[in-house]
Amino acid sequence: MSTVTLTLDKCYALALDALTAQGVSEPQATAIAETVTHAERDECVSHGLFRIPFYIRALSNRYIVADAEPVLTRLAPGVLRVDAGFGFAPYALKCGLPPLIDTARSQGVAILAINNSYHIAGLWPEAEAVANAGLVGFVFTNSLPAVAPAGGTKALFGTNPMAFAWPRNEAPPLVFDQASSVIAKGDVMLHERDGKSIPEGWAIGPDGHSTTDPAAALQGALLPFGGHKGSSIALMIELLAGALIGDLFSYEVIERDPSTKAPCGGELLIAIDPAQCAGTTDRDAQDAHAEALFARIHEQQGARLPSERRWRVRERTIRDGISIPGALFDELTSYASTVGR
Ligand code: NDP
Repeated sequence: MSTVTLTLDKCYALALDALTAQGVSEPQATAIAETVTHAERDECVSHGLFRIPFYIRALSNRYIVADAEPVLTRLAPGVLRVDAGFGFAPYALKCGLPPLIDTARSQGVAILAINNSYHIAGLWPEAEAVANAGLVGFVFTNSLPAVAPAGGTKALFGTNPMAFAWPRNEAPPLVFDQASSVIAKGDVMLHERDGKSIPEGWAIGPDGHSTTDPAAALQGALLPFGGHKGSSIALMIELLAGALIGDLFSYEVIERDPSTKAPCGGELLIAIDPAQCAGTTDRDAQDAHAEALFARIHEQQGARLPSERRWRVRERTIRDGISIPGALFDELTSYASTVGR
């Protein structure tokens, strides 16, 4: 497979040019280009430039508004809402994160509900932004039905990721961001694109039996991680990003618009100011307490903290750039040089 090496600036420009040429407004496109560039920088390839054609295909959706301007409302002192107006999530998040952070600092805890947004990204960028502001963060979103509940055989839940972020005084924040399925759907798509089979245990085909064929997996259902435990987490995320914030469950997204090419629904962020939870201790003591736990993990050979891979890779890609398949580069260049809708 031929590859093309790009600096991160070139990666950003390629994404931005492709999106704007295809009719995405400048602020929406800028926010998406930043998000996919961060994914490439961190070698989270399934949410990097690979996703730009998904954003572009989503433009044919009935409900999408490619130049949507998000609207912020305060529902209660600690509860904020951004109506993304059926635009993409990255711009809505850009509008909602600063007030979320300010509110958590003043109230101790704050919630941000993002409604009516097309979410085609990982969750760590927003989790990391919360932790970079010195706050603890939780993020949840649902998507399109892809995962069978434990014991079932039909796709019902989305791959429903959640992220958690913990700020550290002397180190980059600890962040984990994981789907509630055994594997994210994007990884199954990458296997299909590259003609590779998937490992046993990731998915079942339309016949309800285990499959190693990525195409059959995409027609059937992915499995929740850890059986009933992952299934309950996927269920919780449906409730948090759906019923709680007045948005759709994953299966309702497809029922509203059967031809949809992207998930459109809710996302919930929770930010907590650790300094205001410290009680009898102080923030430095709290940080040192957490670091003692992390040190115990590091003592064990082979164990690491989530996000350490990301921080290591980031140093290299900022210096050396990234490598993407030549076919993807050609596809994005062609989008950038063709006027879309
Ligand atoms: P992975 O299984 O690749 O990684 C999940 C987390 O586990 C990461 O934070 C990773 O940190 C950490 N991790 C991996 N290996 C170890 C280890 N050995 N020790 C400690 N921590 C480890 O992610 P998924 O495949 O579950 O999800 C991929 C992405 O897909 C996520 O960003 C998710 O948000 C996104 N997604 C988005 C959806 C949407 O609808 N918008 C739907 C579903 C998924 P590290 O990065 O350091 O390796």
